[in-house]
Amino acid sequence: MSITIKFEPSGQGIGVDVKRFYIPGVELSSPCPKCCYMCVHDLGSDYLSYPTANVPMEEGFYCDECGHEWNEWIVLRVSVEAAGDQ
Ligand SMILES: [Zn+2]
Repeated sequence: MSITIKFEPSGQGIGVDVKRFYIPGVELSSPCPKCCYMCVHDLGSDYLSYPTANVPMEEGFYCDECGHEWNEWIVLRVSVEAAGDQ
């Protein structure tokens, strides 16, 4: 069997129409810029809300130690590839 996949991203991103988009197994860690406390977002329990894939988006962090807030840029990648014979 054979499949050809044409993938030409528009550059506009791909809207993911999901209010609570969980990604089990993915953790985002960022040290607080003020006190260096390591803040972790486990995307298995901390969801992304209506993310736009394939373009940079901001992820907000809040430090439980000192109350500082900051953003980091992440990209959620969506693509399609052949998986071969299963
Ligand atoms: Zn802090």
